[in-house]
Amino acid sequence: MLSSNMTIATKKPLRGPSLDAERMRALAAWTAKTLDTDKPIPFGAEIVNTRSGERLMRAHNAVAKEFDPSSHAEVRTVRLACKKLKSLSLRGYTMYTTCEPCPMCMANALWAGLDRVVYGATIADANRFCRQIQIAAKEVAERSDMRCKVVGPIEQALCLTLFTHPNMQRAFRTWSTRRKK
Ligand SMILES: [Zn+2]
Repeated sequence: MLSSNMTIATKKPLRGPSLDAERMRALAAWTAKTLDTDKPIPFGAEIVNTRSGERLMRAHNAVAKEFDPSSHAEVRTVRLACKKLKSLSLRGYTMYTTCEPCPMCMANALWAGLDRVVYGATIADANRFCRQIQIAAKEVAERSDMRCKVVGPIEQALCLTLFTHPNMQRAFRTWSTRRKK
């Protein structure tokens, strides 16, 4: 027979790496919903309160939709989050992104003062399908005056399936930044 405190112990709050992995899986699942639309997108980002985990904002890459080469998922999420807070600072917040931020997105994350950036697939993974700038997000952070912990890859294989999905593979052929084989 279970004692009363044993029954309570079954649901431990997730912490550290397992919490990051759970949040990344949820973000990947949300991003995967685009794969069944006419505009599949493998890049999704989410900003949550570092302590409570409460979601502040999430967005997909909207380069084609907005005719804006800078509308990467991470830049958009930071823009929308700062507007929502009416603040220039995202100190106290963590960003999750299905792919390692490019130098533009990582620089923007640093300017925004995010505590942490957690990524899924790597720049090298994305580079199999579309053009990339080969500077690691960790390196961008290390060479700045800002403090931001860059964590990844987390749930890399799962995030990679966003890129290899047949609908995404078909869509990549129409991308201006596609990788020519
Ligand atoms: Zn980017």
